[in-house]
Amino acid sequence: MLKIGIVGLPNSGKSTLFNALLQRQIAEVAEYPFTTIEPNVGVVQVPDERLTTISKAMGIEKTVPAAIEFIDIAGLAKGAHEGAGLGNQFLGHIREVDAVLHLVRSFHNPNVPHSEGSPDPEKDVNIVEEELSQAGIEKPAIYVINIDEKDLADTEIPIAGAVKISAKLESELSELSKDEQKAYLKELGIEKTGFERVIKLCYELLDLITFFTIAGGKQAQAWPVKKGTHALDAAGIVHTDMQKGFIKAEVILWNKLIEAKSWKAAAEKGWVHLEGRDYILTDGDVVEFKFNL
Ligand code: GDP
Repeated sequence: MLKIGIVGLPNSGKSTLFNALLQRQIAEVAEYPFTTIEPNVGVVQVPDERLTTISKAMGIEKTVPAAIEFIDIAGLAKGAHEGAGLGNQFLGHIREVDAVLHLVRSFHNPNVPHSEGSPDPEKDVNIVEEELSQAGIEKPAIYVINIDEKDLADTEIPIAGAVKISAKLESELSELSKDEQKAYLKELGIEKTGFERVIKLCYELLDLITFFTIAGGKQAQAWPVKKGTHALDAAGIVHTDMQKGFIKAEVILWNKLIEAKSWKAAAEKGWVHLEGRDYILTDGDVVEFKFNL
């Protein structure tokens, strides 16, 4: 499973965002630094309308979305690489993740102290990056700027390539129903939740695409894989037996399958193509692996 570690200076809103992502209160949110003393780990399902559409159209009862493990990593402060603050603990956790979600504080709240005096996104990013590089950690990172709710609809982004979110808004949204969320976002002039934008950015950063399996119509499941993954390796991700006994892959793009309404009808139309072990998966492929036990 994909592992994303949330890092940032103390009081940048990591726990607030983490809680919102998990839609429940796992990490303790409090108005003092080092709220997140133990690593907080939670699994979040990745929304994918293609998957739900497949299940609905084909009457598949069980739907298994892809999942991302988020780790709320505490303890990054100036000097963390030398063990300052919770430095050592921090470094241990950050080495385990596939990507870093670097949260940068830009919201204003006089009741929430800032470890370096006052928030300065560019300066804060540099402190965190310096600590990571001093500790010999190079890894892919997405930058997420935690801004005031009222500034969300503005176009200006203090750091190129970053996404803007309001951790506070995300936490409010997480308590609403899907319909209420949509209405609230519309009111604010925003299309997607920060959560959706963060996940999209993670997939882009890690160069991930998604293929689907339907297990003979019993269970629809989404599988994130690196772009360029071959059928044989994809089979191994689903089940080691499928890789060991791999014969072939039957493949159809998800929207063609929906159009045909059933696997059988799609096959009769000649839309299901047979592929060997070296076939490179396309985003949105629905794959049935044929294998010997
Ligand atoms: P962490 O130390 O990075 O985990 O930060 P927390 O998530 O514990 O947040 C520290 C404090 O900042 C809490 O009191 C939060 O309520 C507050 N906070 C976090 N995000 C926001 C935000 O987007 N807007 C405002 N106004 N306050 C926030």
